[in-house]
Amino acid sequence: MNDKKINLEGVIQHLNEKWGNRPCPMCGSNSWNVSDNVYELREFHGGDLVLGNGPILPVIPVTCNNCGNSILVNALMSRAIERPVEDTSKK
Ligand SMILES: [Zn+2]
Repeated sequence: MNDKKINLEGVIQHLNEKWGNRPCPMCGSNSWNVSDNVYELREFHGGDLVLGNGPILPVIPVTCNNCGNSILVNALMSRAIERPVEDTSKK
């Protein structure tokens, strides 16, 4: 989709700071897989796909390797990506 790599080291550091080594709340396992891709959550509009309308929430999925429990960490707060600079020249 895009070839911009995320700042995975920043994410790992963020998780170590905030999360520490707490185990999975679902199964108690302590083996996580941190995605190196950013996904996005869109506001739900009754199933209709509304483009270019409303904010998108960028998230990094962290998935438990044992049970599949997936925790979505905000990609901006975890420093995975830079906050996009608004292009005011086109207005
Ligand atoms: Zn688990």
